[in-house]
Amino acid sequence: MISIKDLHKSYKMGSNSLHVLKGINFDVSEGELVAIMGSSGSGKSTLLNILGMLDLLDKGSYDLDGVPIKDLDETKAANYRNKFLGFVFQSFNLINYKTALENVTLPLYYQGMNRKDRENLAIEYLDQVGLKDWATHLPSELSGGQKQRVAIARAMVSQPKVLLADEPTGALDSQTSKEVMALIQEINSKGKTILIVTHEEEIAQMCSRIVRLKDGIIMEDQKNKMKKAI
Ligand code: ADP
Ligand code: MG
Repeated sequence: MISIKDLHKSYKMGSNSLHVLKGINFDVSEGELVAIMGSSGSGKSTLLNILGMLDLLDKGSYDLDGVPIKDLDETKAANYRNKFLGFVFQSFNLINYKTALENVTLPLYYQGMNRKDRENLAIEYLDQVGLKDWATHLPSELSGGQKQRVAIARAMVSQPKVLLADEPTGALDSQTSKEVMALIQEINSKGKTILIVTHEEEIAQMCSRIVRLKDGIIMEDQKNKMKKAI
């Protein structure tokens, strides 16, 4: 599903350059639930953003579902992003003046789906995350856990091949984190490939594989006996 070879990434800052990823090699197969672990500043988000086509690599190669992600123009890149990838962020990134339902329909609107179809599909996905009854509520009326569920529904509604989550439980208390992880495990159990960035060992233990980043390289990459979140 994902294949990365000798990936390098630096950030240029004036005349200085910060070499963040220094030769990452890793493959992810369909259906895996992978935790990307590492301390703050170790390059986890940088890696996830490259995997999510939100940022470009400097050197190396990246194949996504057999497609080399390289030299794509903006339109093509946006198409692949919409077709292949769903994103979940620590801070939810919901649109505050839109209801839960409208937030979930938005990706479908950009795909050009008609109103009736996108509302029906969005309701179905809100139902899957247990929030059908909250469809008409604004994000400000939802708890943190509920907001993240809406964000997960929004990420899943376009049926991406891969779900990418950057510290999805980072803003949640530990009970709510477990509930969100239980939902992520449930989505994974139906076959979805999921990568989660986290710096919490407990969250990583809820994944079937743990990749540990340190100083820009993969220090350890092991299968894990997945602990059930709930
Ligand atoms: P993590 O997610 O593991 O905390 P990041 O990937 O966000 O780490 O950042 C890795 C390093 O790259 C950090 O030192 C960070 O300050 C730096 N960095 C991240 N994004 C940028 C950017 N856009 N410009 C310059 N430096 C950046
Ligand atoms: Mg980060």
